[in-house]
Amino acid sequence: MSDHYERVKIELQQMKEVENEAAADEEQLPPASVSPIPADVSFTARRDLSKSSINGRSRSKSRSKADGRERQVNGKQLPYLTPQKSDYSQGQSRVSDEPNLHIKGTAKLLKGKTAANGHVESCQRQTDGKCEHHGKEAKKRRAVTVDTSKAKTSLEALKMSIRQLKWKELCDVLQYPKSLSFRAVRTMQELFPEEYNFYPRSWILPEEYQLFSTQIRLLKDNDSTLKPTFIVKPDSGSQGDGIYLIRDPADLRVISGSPIKQSVVQEYIQKPLLIDKLKFDIRLYVLVRSLEPLEIYIAKEGLSRFCTEPYQEPSQKNLSHVFMHLTNYSLNVHSGNFVHSDSCSTGSKRTFSSVLYRLASKGVDIKKVWSDIIALVIKTVIALEPELKVYYQADIPPGKPGPTCFQILGFDILLMKNLKPVLLEVNANPSMRIEHEQEVSPGVFEYVPSPVDEEVKVGVIRDTLRLMDPTQRKQHVTSSTGGGSPEAAIVVETGSDEKEGLADSLPSLCLKQVFPKYTKQFNYLRVVERIATIFLRFLGVKGTMRLGPTSFRTFIRNCKLSNSSFSMASVDILYIDITRRWAGMLPDSREAGMCLQAFIEAFFYLAARRFKALLLREQVLLLLEVCEGALEGQSHSEKPRPHRSHTNPASSQSSAPTTFSSPALTRRRHRPMQLSAKANTEN
Ligand code: ADP
Repeated sequence: MSDHYERVKIELQQMKEVENEAAADEEQLPPASVSPIPADVSFTARRDLSKSSINGRSRSKSRSKADGRERQVNGKQLPYLTPQKSDYSQGQSRVSDEPNLHIKGTAKLLKGKTAANGHVESCQRQTDGKCEHHGKEAKKRRAVTVDTSKAKTSLEALKMSIRQLKWKELCDVLQYPKSLSFRAVRTMQELFPEEYNFYPRSWILPEEYQLFSTQIRLLKDNDSTLKPTFIVKPDSGSQGDGIYLIRDPADLRVISGSPIKQSVVQEYIQKPLLIDKLKFDIRLYVLVRSLEPLEIYIAKEGLSRFCTEPYQEPSQKNLSHVFMHLTNYSLNVHSGNFVHSDSCSTGSKRTFSSVLYRLASKGVDIKKVWSDIIALVIKTVIALEPELKVYYQADIPPGKPGPTCFQILGFDILLMKNLKPVLLEVNANPSMRIEHEQEVSPGVFEYVPSPVDEEVKVGVIRDTLRLMDPTQRKQHVTSSTGGGSPEAAIVVETGSDEKEGLADSLPSLCLKQVFPKYTKQFNYLRVVERIATIFLRFLGVKGTMRLGPTSFRTFIRNCKLSNSSFSMASVDILYIDITRRWAGMLPDSREAGMCLQAFIEAFFYLAARRFKALLLREQVLLLLEVCEGALEGQSHSEKPRPHRSHTNPASSQSSAPTTFSSPALTRRRHRPMQLSAKANTEN
């Protein structure tokens, strides 16, 4: 122990030095008025980590597209599951050139003036009243400017949306950053195993290889008839690329001598619901309109993407049949069986509503299917909310009304044969492309308009803009529908419940509010959010999302968590052990310190230590009460810090070391955030 503590002391010392350097760096930055940093540059630089989708793989998606290009050029390293058509790699290359979703926002909406970043020339003219075409309308409306300069996959859909809205101008479109972690869902599975059983069991490789092997061996020892299948999704792949199925941990593809690749291995859903013998999945778009308060909207229409080879349960023979097992559009489009259709209700890519009609005609209770999907979406966003808050908090200017941030998420969902929805992935940067690739003559592919994509995606973008419209900003928050058991209480309405006086000529909103509408059914799940609030309160140097060792100690001290059997030396050991392990799990990490997920792990440890022999959830709730009680007591005896209070209620009472008033920090926190740099997922 003493040796270990000595090592810990040295590491702590090093970390504190880093902490101090970071603080010094912050102070050296010039104030905003002197030298505003271009938002793109600083945003990207601070978001090295933030490339992952929920399954932890999209970190590599943008990279993997570039890789895909290289792969083609070099003619090496083909995907593991190789489609039968030889032109697949060409197709991949084109897909990899797909532009990215990027709606750039500005920090402020300026009435009758140009937007703060001055990007939109036409709007400047218009708002100066010199644009004849816009003149009359400009008098009637407040200037709203949409800067489309950075819109990539979304450009066409965004243009259509703006046309439909008759907007010429621009709103302050900001966005939550894109780093979401499927670990967040696993954390919720630990706390609420029943509620979060919609996510297949997963292991992160290589860290959890031993755990994976042991668990599967035990499973098979207990029941020799079990023949589980697993799907391996390497970090370096995307759009189905690099994915393969295995039946045993020993089947993992390991290149001899090299370590196991970073990947997620997941229980394979063997009995999906089939239509015309084909497996399909669902892409749904979800708008997180606001975090404070949490507001979630689901698009009423989504996409269903079909496999192109009849499904059979996995067997050694068919494990490598991609067109049978993987629903990815980018793979199946290269199968000879892919059906392009001008109708939205036939073909290999259809609207989800057409699938529901089909199921309804067979007697399926589709309202139940929808309500299960809504529950899955709300629970998943609740799992992601703490991380989103930490990112958001790190970028919001202190003392200002928060800028309008939103995020469109792409949920990939599979329906099981018993109609239970299963979450496959959440894409923080879903593609908004409204064209698709078509083989116009043998081997020649072109992008042609895709009616089904247009139908779904234009509505999502248009209505997101409508909901974010600062001139119309009303309270879209409706009250909860009441208590009762969670999912059972969700009533699926067919009509629009958002009659907010938006332009009469527009179709009713395709985005349906589900939270706070169903607050009462799901609020009890928001436990980790309370841990995140404590984490945020003790986050020292602003602009970082990592807790330093000193702040961690302050947290322990202020919450009165150390005692004779848990000394501050043990606290330091705990900090180092957990932080070091998480640093290993996040290889891209440039920031030192304890990330939110590591803090949550430490919190769980402390809870289990203090309240033995209870369920983890109960332990955590009890510890939260202890901490919140202690912090509240302290805050009464402290001066409030009003300039922070809007972003984090707890911080106004904070006794944690802060550098909130640093001009450098103020500048950094004033810069506008941007909608994701890379749209890295397929339709
Ligand atoms: P990518 O991001 O590369 O598309 P996904 O996680 O979406 O990776 O997986 C690709 C496809 O594999 C999905 O569209 C789905 O058809 C299939 N798939 C993924 N996970 C599972 C699973 N756990 N069980 C069954 N099928 C799966």
